[in-house]
Amino acid sequence: MADNKLYELLGVSRNATDTDLKKAYRKLAKEFHPDKNPDAGEKFKEISFAYEVLSNPEKREVYDRHGLDGIKEGGGGGGFGGASMFEDLFGGFFGFPGMGGGSGMGRGRRRGEDTHHPLRVTLEDLYNGKTAKLQLSKTVVCKKCNGMGGKSGANQRCKKCNGRGVQVQLRQLGPGMVQQLQSICSECHGEGEVIREKDRCPECNGKKVCNETKILEVHVDKGMKDGQRIPFRGEGDQQPGIEPGDVIIVLQQKEHEIFTRKGEDLVMEHSIPLTDALCGFKFNLKHLDGRDLVIHSKPGEVIEPGKLKMVTQEGMPRYRNPFEKGNLYINFNVTFPENNFATPDQLKDLEALLPPRPRTEIPTGEHVEEVNLVEFDNSRGFGGGGGHRMEAYHDDDEDEDGHGHPRMQCQHQ
Ligand SMILES: [Zn+2]
Ligand SMILES: [Zn+2]
Repeated sequence: MADNKLYELLGVSRNATDTDLKKAYRKLAKEFHPDKNPDAGEKFKEISFAYEVLSNPEKREVYDRHGLDGIKEGGGGGGFGGASMFEDLFGGFFGFPGMGGGSGMGRGRRRGEDTHHPLRVTLEDLYNGKTAKLQLSKTVVCKKCNGMGGKSGANQRCKKCNGRGVQVQLRQLGPGMVQQLQSICSECHGEGEVIREKDRCPECNGKKVCNETKILEVHVDKGMKDGQRIPFRGEGDQQPGIEPGDVIIVLQQKEHEIFTRKGEDLVMEHSIPLTDALCGFKFNLKHLDGRDLVIHSKPGEVIEPGKLKMVTQEGMPRYRNPFEKGNLYINFNVTFPENNFATPDQLKDLEALLPPRPRTEIPTGEHVEEVNLVEFDNSRGFGGGGGHRMEAYHDDDEDEDGHGHPRMQCQHQ
């Protein structure tokens, strides 16, 4: 019961070598080439197809074992699903539309592509967990016609592509050299069959699928992360004869005003005035679950700018173990008083309270120059060769303002 059709098309035996196949193909291709033989277009395509399969050792082996018709009708047997056999045999040749996922011969059915939907969540959502309802529209197999597209028997093999779903165009590149161009059939959109207009299912208009709106309940669990995927198996678009792919919800965390997440930990910046930094502080922090955390310094503690402190177990809950939490890190920024915040007498009092200054030797002599500190214009950055460097390094007399000091304004070219 072995299928011999492809060998017969090329006029060779089943034991034909690669060279035999090539010879036979060349001879027939010349004979039936559409340029010479315009009526033999179909025949030429069949020959090309046969050669395409038999010249590929893997495809030839599959064909030898399971034949072609059996495969097409899904009766391939041998533990392989029909569709997968068909795909393995012709996948490299045709490239069917909508084939995604999986590879190799162990696959059960053709499977549709997965669709990804982003879901915007807040850090509060990821801390507390929540259920989001997501509305999506998808195609489902028409219930009225059961995905047939019309009455049974209304399906006709597409005449344009002869049921293959693709159109093959041939282009002569040179004597005896032909290039095959393949495209999805414009008549049947790759289905290989068409339905007469009068027989079409009124529900889906012969398209075999309908659009449906579906509400998905997405459970965002405590401790989930930005970028985490929540799959809904088989909720993708349905197509007759194809296992639907998954809908995959991808979490996208909105930035939080206060907290930045680093894994299980939370990091925040907090500014305190110098007085707090020296004399102690207490402040209130609204946490992601609405609790108020009162955070305070230890008696006598001094906080320097850039100090990093930690509150243990006040970070994010761990995914699937939400009673365990990361830590909360607070990066302190100290704000200093404005210029002239105190009179010279008050400053003397203040200095008396502060630790004594270290003694520094100031040299004297003609090589000693006292210079002015000016404000740094951050928009220019360093190393740009702008006005600051000119001010700093020009020692020409004309750049001076007459008092021996560099000019304060910047020079623009
Ligand atoms: Zn229908
Ligand atoms: Zn077609």
